[in-house]
Amino acid sequence: VEADAARACAVLGHRPASTARAHASHKGSYGDVCVVGGEGMQQRGMGMSGAALLAARAALHAGAGRVFVGLLDGGALAVDAVQPELMFRAIDALDFAATATATVCGCGGGHAVAGVLPQVLAASGRLVLDADALNAIAQDDGLRHALASRGARGQATVITPHPLEAARLLRTTAADVQSQRLHAAAALARELQAVVVLKGSGTVIAHGDRSPVINPTGNALLATAGTGDVLAGMVGARLAPQGADAFDAACAAVYAHGLRADAWPAGRPLTAGRLANAASGA
Ligand code: AMP
Ligand code: MG
Repeated sequence: VEADAARACAVLGHRPASTARAHASHKGSYGDVCVVGGEGMQQRGMGMSGAALLAARAALHAGAGRVFVGLLDGGALAVDAVQPELMFRAIDALDFAATATATVCGCGGGHAVAGVLPQVLAASGRLVLDADALNAIAQDDGLRHALASRGARGQATVITPHPLEAARLLRTTAADVQSQRLHAAAALARELQAVVVLKGSGTVIAHGDRSPVINPTGNALLATAGTGDVLAGMVGARLAPQGADAFDAACAAVYAHGLRADAWPAGRPLTAGRLANAASGA
């Protein structure tokens, strides 16, 4: 474990190149991120659109060229007044997800996300799956197979489970996952043919034959609602540029997310919204 941590520092202890913007670039150079999530009140009496908005805001601040949002809430939100750069699209026409260079699916998705997952898994380019997208996949062998088959088609997927979400996918307990985090992340990566970001103190990033990385940044300020949604958006932004490598994008986003918390000014409570606004840079 110490050797892995040392390697993580060596691999990640520099400013990721992806944050530098070439002089002659345009918004298309940085890709389009599409965020699909946010169940509404009418489904189960829970309004969870905030999770999707946090992911979208984080993707924008982390450098995505354009960010689209498809809310599962059944409403008709057309603008985020605090973040008017975000563009809203009706969820019944998921074409916008297929044309984005990266899709982030699942933040605050509730049960409604299961309905869109077959199309998201089949048609999305590079894909980040978080939260309720992972819970839905854990309960449905068809979705699980659809996820694994993306790898065979060369479609990159990053999954960002916290320990309980990982345990559901592995059909075990969170305590079991926590007792062997490197092993759990590698097993999920192998089975689901995806880059796995197993979150928590010392987030593990695992994929295929790449050496697993234990991220050295981050602290307990991140233990507050919505910070995982912010991470999903930050991964999406780094996956969006043409030619992005999914493992490197995941490592860079996790590193930057933790670094923001490590650099947080003393005495200023960290909220996920503030973290999303600070998502720019390494
Ligand atoms: P979630 O569980 O989906 O809300 O995500 C929480 C985010 O905060 C993940 O990126 C975790 O790795 C991070 N996080 C939470 N608690 C800690 C902690 N004690 N130390 C470092 N990172 C943490
Ligand atoms: Mg979460």
